[in-house]
Amino acid sequence: MSAFIGKYTDELIKNAKYIATPGKGILAADESTGTIGKRLASINVENVESNRQALRQLLFTAPGALQYLSGVILFEETLYQKTCCGKPFVDVLLEAGVLPGIKVDKGTVDLAGTNGETTTQGFDGLGARCQQYYKAGARFAKWRAVLKIGPSEPSELSIQQNAQGLARYAIICQENGLVPIVEPEILTDGGHDIDKCAEVTEKVLAAVYKALNDHHVLLEGTLLKPNMVTPGSDSPKVAPELIAELTVRALRRTVPAAVPGIVFLSGGQSEEEATLNLNAMNKLDVLKPWTLSFSFGRALQQSTLKTWKGKEENVKAAQEAFLVRCKANSEATLGTYEGGNAGELASQSLHVKGYKY
Ligand code: 13P
Repeated sequence: MSAFIGKYTDELIKNAKYIATPGKGILAADESTGTIGKRLASINVENVESNRQALRQLLFTAPGALQYLSGVILFEETLYQKTCCGKPFVDVLLEAGVLPGIKVDKGTVDLAGTNGETTTQGFDGLGARCQQYYKAGARFAKWRAVLKIGPSEPSELSIQQNAQGLARYAIICQENGLVPIVEPEILTDGGHDIDKCAEVTEKVLAAVYKALNDHHVLLEGTLLKPNMVTPGSDSPKVAPELIAELTVRALRRTVPAAVPGIVFLSGGQSEEEATLNLNAMNKLDVLKPWTLSFSFGRALQQSTLKTWKGKEENVKAAQEAFLVRCKANSEATLGTYEGGNAGELASQSLHVKGYKY
């Protein structure tokens, strides 16, 4: 462990463990200004600060929803925003027992010398930014590394570069009091089968944990945010039970028991698919030393967004749609979700090729 984590050790362990509380999960509401613009455009709403604030307020003040969440990931702008009554969003979350988190990466760029693979930016001033975010109330952070499956991808270079990047980010966060969410996302784009995804996921996760150890990261004070193991987006779908079996197998082979929680991204799955897959994993009767929960963006917000449409008169119905998804995913973390909450909106595929967050 790094000697510099020192004063934060107990707090990091406590906060990571709290976020991993069974029955609770994370809302990823940290879309960058460009990405949220695409979401708002899909409902014909202009991408201006007041509309971004209105959407986030709708989510954070939805009656009953925060009981199912232990964390919300914010974009920098949102960390400093308030409700229309003047209450900081950070206070709204903390009062409901939800830890504020912050996206600290600055997106991906091409990794030169590869066939369109990427590396993640954001190291400039990262330690100082973490200190500011901690002062503003953030207690955990997110950094998204992106890998893809292709004829010879992910390359060894991309696996190593992204693993090193995640490890460097993680230790910088810990030295400044933030629990790092380590997110090596393997995109679903492609026509590969589920076995290929399982093989790549294991390889990538093994490299990530080797790097985290080399960088002296305190694993007890981290969370993992992986993709689920699924067939590629151009291949036929398979049952949640198979996704559950191969995902949990890949995780059991690579993720140390010192990690308190694994919080999946939804990666373009429909809301209902993501919930059913998480539920199937938690029903699996094998030893799981970490909790398995959610850190969904699209799969927690899609039906809410489509119900809202940017109109004040739809806020209540949109908040009800959000509550339905939060409760369903909470049940899925316990393996008790019965399904059946999938209206048309919750069943729509949310896959976008080469998705940028
Ligand atoms: P999705 O659940 O929409 O994939 O996004 C989660 C996330 O935070 C990706 O970094």
